[in-house]
Amino acid sequence: MTPRPSPASAAADWHRDLARAIRDPGQLLERLELPASLADHPAAKLFGVMVPESFLARMRPGDPHDPLLRQVLPDVREHDRVEGFTIDAVGDQAARRTPGLIHKYAGRALLVSTGSCAVHCRYCFRRHYPYGREPRRLDEWKPAIAALQADDSIREVILSGGDPLMLTDARLGELLDRLDAIPHLARLRIHTRLPIVLPSRVTPALCRRLQSGRLTPIVVVHANHPAEVVGDCVEALVGLVRSGLTVLNQAVLLAGVNDDADTLEALCSRLADTGVVAYYLHQLDRVAGAAHFETDESVGRALIAELERRLPGYAVPRYVREQSGESSKRRLV
Ligand SMILES: *Cc1c(COP(=O)(O)O)cnc(C)c1O
Ligand code: SF4
Repeated sequence: MTPRPSPASAAADWHRDLARAIRDPGQLLERLELPASLADHPAAKLFGVMVPESFLARMRPGDPHDPLLRQVLPDVREHDRVEGFTIDAVGDQAARRTPGLIHKYAGRALLVSTGSCAVHCRYCFRRHYPYGREPRRLDEWKPAIAALQADDSIREVILSGGDPLMLTDARLGELLDRLDAIPHLARLRIHTRLPIVLPSRVTPALCRRLQSGRLTPIVVVHANHPAEVVGDCVEALVGLVRSGLTVLNQAVLLAGVNDDADTLEALCSRLADTGVVAYYLHQLDRVAGAAHFETDESVGRALIAELERRLPGYAVPRYVREQSGESSKRRLV
């Protein structure tokens, strides 16, 4: 039997994996045995490249259309100006109540816990988000914590970002302690892509901390393609599920990545096999630079209808789109 990693070495592992992530488009292409000319444009300057080794290892060498590569490789079309595609696609700024606090929907509010991520998804709706204005140090969270304390209609806090699991266990723990102490809060949601792209982040210590707080934890991960949900990623998801956490997935419908029934069926059944609930399939948020990922809503509706024919009801996600100013995400089916 291999000994369980000590907490210190488990933490060292993910910090090391993060430090080793690829940040150079040329290097990314070289590792995949693809021509450097594919990065012969400056789109990486619009939003830097970031790809952890674990995620890279799930791509097919020599395939420029690999669905995981498509999500992270800068594309010359990111420079296109397309009508309707804007910097603040979902009205985050109008819903910002204090630094770091976005409150749109009844009973739940979102904290922009950090500006960093372990992967840079080219279609990210927050790719232009002004993270520099948001809190970094614990004392800078005071206005957001005070606003949560003052509003007892809020029952659930969502840690988002960026990716909240980019915080160290110590920093995350301090923030969670503050939230645990607000009596009217009941639930804590963590929106994170790290279990998918940097599985070593899921340590026994992290699972324990999420379970041992006062708030009921819900972890929402983000995988778009079945080839993401393999190997160490499955181990991480099973680790979360077996430690008793509720784990949901949200995916984004992306042209050329997952806009066909076989791919979505494989994604949803793999999630179900792992004990992860398919929560949302998002229509793409219309953020500047991501127009080439957009799929028509009629295609999305047909895909959901097909999934319903092929899968148990619990394995079919809700197809939704976020519309600025609305009181919830809007169901499209
Ligand atoms: C998406 C989102 C939520 C969560 O919505 P659910 O439908 O509860 O998953 C909450 N706050 C903000 C600002 C959001 O964008
Ligand atoms: S992990 Fe999430 S927040 Fe980070 S770049 Fe990807 S979609 Fe955006």
